[in-house]
Amino acid sequence: MIKIDGSEGEGGGQVLRNACALSLLTGEPFTIEKIRGGRERPGLMRQHLTSIAAACEIGGANCDGLKMGSTQITFRPGTIKAGNYHFAVGTAGSTGLVLQTVLIPLIHADGPSRVTIEGGTHAASAPPFDFLEKSFLPILNRMGPEVSAQIVRHGFYPRGGGKVVVDINPAPLKPMDCLDRGSLISRSGLLKFAGIPRGIAERLLGAARKTLSDWSADDFILRELPEDHGPGMALLIEAKYEGVTEVVSGFGKLGLKAERIGKSTASRIAGYKKSTAFAGPYLQDQLLLPFAVAGGGSFTTVKISQHTRTAADIIGRFTGRSISFENSTDGTHLIRIR
Ligand code: AMP
Repeated sequence: MIKIDGSEGEGGGQVLRNACALSLLTGEPFTIEKIRGGRERPGLMRQHLTSIAAACEIGGANCDGLKMGSTQITFRPGTIKAGNYHFAVGTAGSTGLVLQTVLIPLIHADGPSRVTIEGGTHAASAPPFDFLEKSFLPILNRMGPEVSAQIVRHGFYPRGGGKVVVDINPAPLKPMDCLDRGSLISRSGLLKFAGIPRGIAERLLGAARKTLSDWSADDFILRELPEDHGPGMALLIEAKYEGVTEVVSGFGKLGLKAERIGKSTASRIAGYKKSTAFAGPYLQDQLLLPFAVAGGGSFTTVKISQHTRTAADIIGRFTGRSISFENSTDGTHLIRIR
């Protein structure tokens, strides 16, 4: 039984999601205490409950302590089974984070699966749908499996109500070395908005455009979604290279000026473009689990995040794999999985 202190490292929900996935993949039970001990409101929230319950369902696992606010659970894995699954968070909790928990295990199931997840699709502190679709899944697919995702309905914070459908065709994950992102192919700044006055959306996108002053007007797109998908706004700035696509996101927030969101999101893509690294600040921790399951590989990245260090530690405890970080002279970092 692996014992985890959930307050160590990043001390958030990722520890829990990675532990569930790794437990299903390795057959090792685990117990975790001080769940999300590094967060302002520790313990299990709806999104974490849904993720763990989803892991139990796809993996024939059982879990003690599964209730709202719980700070300790014990998880005993069973056998991963392919199927047609439906999980509903019930709040704006992230559909992407529920997917993070079940995706890699279902890639190791006995056949294809379809997973429908309801909840938030575009909210802060989680991968928005566009990031999963354009940044994360294409790399996973290059490693062997075929995974495709559709968005049926957008769901913004705080209302939620979004829906995504993901089809998974399993195949063993192959190790890859992703050192170079290649040349830039295209770039865009897409603002999705629903149930918000158009003028506010225009101000947000205008600020992004002003910050990315060398981009052309055609690179920016305003897309109004049906009013009942909202209220909400998400700015998704994309830089597509031959080897990888980075998607930087910013979300409308009550009390936060639209211009500020536009400017800060645009500055982040400018930062990524200045570097030569393959993975951006969020892709790096999300690639560790598939790379570790593949049994090796490497990729370059921007500054190593605390999420990445914590994920590397949890992966090491379940699999014995060592993940090393090396600084390069050009300011990038090389992550190697052995
Ligand atoms: P945690 O904070 O422990 O719940 O983990 C959050 C997860 O969401 C990590 O895997 C992050 O890489 C990911 N994440 C957070 N914000 C973004 C974002 N803007 N784009 C993509 N992924 C994100």
